[in-house]
This record gives sequence, structure tokens and C-alpha cells, in this order.
Amino acid sequence: MDENYLQSKELQTNHGNNEKKSIGIGMDSAVVPLSRYPDLFLVQTVDFFYPLTDDPYLMGKIALANVVSDLYAVGIIHVDKIKMIISAPTEFTDKQRDTVVPKIINGFKDAAAIAKCTIDVQNVAINPWCIIGGIATSICHESEIIYPDQLQDGDVLILTKALGTQLASNTLIYWKDQSDEWKKLSAAGITLEDVKYVSDRAVEQMCFLNVNAAELMHKYNAHGATDITGFGLLGHANNLAAFQKKNLTLVINTLPIIGKVKQIAEVLGRTQKLFNGLAVETSGGLLIGISRENATKFCEDYNTSSHHQCWIVGFVKEGEKIAKVSSNVKILEV
Ligand code: MG
Repeated sequence: MDENYLQSKELQTNHGNNEKKSIGIGMDSAVVPLSRYPDLFLVQTVDFFYPLTDDPYLMGKIALANVVSDLYAVGIIHVDKIKMIISAPTEFTDKQRDTVVPKIINGFKDAAAIAKCTIDVQNVAINPWCIIGGIATSICHESEIIYPDQLQDGDVLILTKALGTQLASNTLIYWKDQSDEWKKLSAAGITLEDVKYVSDRAVEQMCFLNVNAAELMHKYNAHGATDITGFGLLGHANNLAAFQKKNLTLVINTLPIIGKVKQIAEVLGRTQKLFNGLAVETSGGLLIGISRENATKFCEDYNTSSHHQCWIVGFVKEGEKIAKVSSNVKILEV
């Protein structure tokens, strides 16, 4: 990783502003002290990506969950405003655009309503690619922020969504295209029901907001978190490790993978990334550092209050600001 990039991520103490901490680029959200309002901070993120399901309404929901997740990762629960970023592909006819775009916007709006925030859609750009995302903003008190640099030796790591979303989503496309991948899967006994099961699971969890996790991070005094997206579990764990005040190593010893995705990966020969924590995720879970004692309570509470499951996937020990996957990592089909 580029050294300048790492340095740019360090927490800065703004000495001219009552020692209030800010976060620049590199972590999930920027945290900016407001110079004229001593108690208040601007927390903001921008995130966007490209369609990964052919249901535009669900795509809108996933995009909203994906962008607000960056705020939840720093403990923010109240999102004040989201400006939507959306572009329709140039290759769309007017009719296609007028059909698809409103569905994406409706999905985004409905998910924003669940997140209790308002959205702003100013214009739809025309672009070679379809891009969906937003700029999410919260103005908040410092007590609402959980700085992601407080992990401790002896902490454990919780993950709040299962891994394997990309392969799960792609499997549905393989089936729709009746591709060579699908022929291999079919020959190995994977059924259409299996495909629907994994893709539905992936979509459901990609739409699910990480807000419950953020609330419980406050309740159980978490020491910091990040959300798992394009760099995979290990990539984001490395980023979190590099950001710590203390010299710590994050060890991943469990990989909870959406049931059947393990078998699909094995049949397609795609285990290398998935079993090493490197598979790309979209709108993934939060990876949270927290004391061992509080982790158990967090997981019990999360499983009951959110009707979703989370898992302890590793631990934190003295080390060298890196993350690694343990050589005897346990693959958990969930
Ligand atoms: Mg993020």
C-alpha cells in the first residue's frame, strides 16, 4: 500500500480547534470539526457503484444501504441528508430510461425512509455507464462518533453480514445466461432453487442497513469499525489495522459465507479469493473491534433485535498494524 496513502489516513488533531479530532481521506467517512460550532462535526461520505442486480428498485435500495454504511461505520445513527448520484447509460432508449431510472430512485427513497433521512435527487446524468450512489451527510455531536482508531490488544472482531455476495449475485446471471459456469454448476448438482436461495440471501443482506450494528456499537462500547465492500474482508481489516493508534495485528480466524456459495466457489474454482477474505463485497457488514466480554452481549443483542446474525470472526493482538487470515481459518456456511 502506498505510504503517502497510509499517512493521509492518520487521524489529525486540530490544535486550533480545542483538540477536536478529524479524519481525512482513507477511512469510511470524513469527520470534520465545524470551526464556528465548537460542539459539532460534519461527517460525510461519497460512494457509488454499478448495477449488480437486474432489478432496478432493489438496486436503488442496495445503493442507499451501501452509502449510509460508511456513516454507520463511525457510529453515526442519524443521517441528515443524502444527495443521490445517478446516471443512466447512453445506450438506453428514452423509454428504457424513463422506466428504469424512476424505479432506482424509488428503491433509494424507500431505503432512505427506513434510514430516517431525506434524499435529494437534482439531476440524472447521461453517461456511458449506469452509476448509482450518493453523498451522505450528518451534522452531529462528538459523542455520536466512534473513532475507528481505538482497538485494543485482546479485543475480538465481529462481522455483521455474511461473505460471498458477489459470487451469489453472479450465479443468478450465470443461470439467466445459461453460461458455461452454469453448466458446470448444474452438472455438480446445484439447482435453480440453490441459485435463487443464494442470490435472494445476498440481495436481502445488501439491502439491510447497518444501523442496528451502529446503535449496538454505542451500547457495548465498541473500539472502532469499518464496513466491508470492494477490498473484501481482509483488505478493509488491513485498512482498519493501519489506522490504529496502537501497534496491533488483526487476525481473521472465521469466514462466515452465505450457505451454498462455498460449494459454488469450489465447483467454479473461485475459492482463492473467497477463502482468503479477499472476495469483493457490496454493501457488506461492519467489522467491529470490541472487548471480548462485550462482544458476546453485542452478538446476542444483535441477533435478537435485528433479526439478523453476526459472528465473531477474529481477534486483535499486539503486532504491526496489519491484518491477516489465520492459516487454519474456519469456513462457516451460514
Ligand atoms: Mg466504507
